[in-house]
Amino acid sequence: MALWSSIGHLVQASVAATLLFAAGVTAATAPLPRTPGELRRSVSHAEMLIFLQSLPRSPGDLEISITELTRSPEGRSIPIVHLRRRGARNPLRALVFAQQHGEEVSGKDALLFLLRDFAAAPDSFPPDLELWLVPMLNPDGAEGGRRNNGAGVDLNRDHLLLSQPETRALHALARRLHPHLSVDCHEFTRDSRDYLQRGWSEWPLITMDAANHPLLPAQVYETGLHWVEEAAAAMAGLGIAYQRYLVGDAPPQGELRPSTLDADDARNSLALHGGLSFIIEAGVRRRAANPDADLGERVSAYLHLLRWLLAPDPQRRAQLVALDPARGTPLPSWLPTNVFWANTRVRETLVPVIELASGRTVKISTATVMYDRIVKTAQPTPWGYAVASDAAGIFRVLLGAHGISFESVTAGRTVATSRCRLLRLEEEYDEVYHRYEGRQIVTCAEAQPQTLPAGTLLVALDQPAARTAAAVLDPRMLYGLYQYPPFRALVGEYGTLPVDLVAAPGVTP
Ligand SMILES: [Zn+2]
Repeated sequence: MALWSSIGHLVQASVAATLLFAAGVTAATAPLPRTPGELRRSVSHAEMLIFLQSLPRSPGDLEISITELTRSPEGRSIPIVHLRRRGARNPLRALVFAQQHGEEVSGKDALLFLLRDFAAAPDSFPPDLELWLVPMLNPDGAEGGRRNNGAGVDLNRDHLLLSQPETRALHALARRLHPHLSVDCHEFTRDSRDYLQRGWSEWPLITMDAANHPLLPAQVYETGLHWVEEAAAAMAGLGIAYQRYLVGDAPPQGELRPSTLDADDARNSLALHGGLSFIIEAGVRRRAANPDADLGERVSAYLHLLRWLLAPDPQRRAQLVALDPARGTPLPSWLPTNVFWANTRVRETLVPVIELASGRTVKISTATVMYDRIVKTAQPTPWGYAVASDAAGIFRVLLGAHGISFESVTAGRTVATSRCRLLRLEEEYDEVYHRYEGRQIVTCAEAQPQTLPAGTLLVALDQPAARTAAAVLDPRMLYGLYQYPPFRALVGEYGTLPVDLVAAPGVTP
């Protein structure tokens, strides 16, 4: 669908746009003030479309093109902006997207300032970079001031299922681009109840974390962490309160850990394609009288961090290039199926917090900042998976959305398979160990020869999407498909799962 015809329609029809013009804001300046500090509120979807329309398409030797990534469930256009210097040879590819969570706004505003500044000063665009920006991935949530999209889905928990147009389109794009660098922009709450009760708010204005899924090649994980640490020095030099992203309750008792180790968010699921992948979270004071009062500060911090990430630093560029071979690293012979964060060395961490009464930063000593990934169970890596023919319909859609190759068995073929059973689904959030609800507890039998009926889908792990295939399909993953109702409905009598492990292709034991 042509974006600009829809925008032309929107400009004529939209009440927001009419009000904008009525207020004397012209397309050339709308909706960004001169500096982030002058922002009084976040840019709306309609304003963003007008702003994008106003951008020059070929300032200097910079080429800017704008297309539609997809449409939201409520029919809103989701634009994607592509920037590249004319004649750039082998540029590094970066994909930056924001506002997956509709009420987390500052990443979007920062991307619009970034675009404006590149368009105004094209020489500032790194010559060795090709950049794709999706400033507002969830316009339905943005317009409603809520986390979820128009279908009521939390997009950043949908990257395993890819059930929504936004996540499907993002993954299709990432598979086409194979970005060296992906960045997902969010906001966290600095003044959660747990901190407020102690008279504190969280210290950082902006945080970042890298992909950490246990199936990632070690080089990807370690390079990502290295960048997270290097950014700390860079941001400290600019006077920006930055730290590695930590989620959890207030110290000293609250567990504080980096981002989730699972594959259902954008950061980890995109990293499984190869390349570095980060989440950035700016801190919002949601309980403040006017949470927008420091919007400019958040946007400014975002801009500094994004410019640092995209800057043509020779060492970091070399690290990105060095990761290319890691994309082809085969899976290990084991799959970590139950993994969590812990503090294995009983290290003390001093967590800075802001004491609200005095405005001072104080450091709280704690042993519950958990930086170590713990593997509790790992299982042998199978040759692949066999999806039962009567579940093939839903799995074809899933495999297609993830770009996972499969073969549809036409005649009976005998292979060695392990049948797996769901023992139970743990529905409750585990307060003691801070484990999310929806854990699937699965047991698999010894491999037996089985003649696969026609219509069985056979998925080999000897394929470029092997990491994604294992993360999505392996029934032994602690957080997998069977926590979701459409897949839970496929669990048969006695808990039989629709996906078998295949020990080897066409071999009987
Ligand atoms: Zn978020």
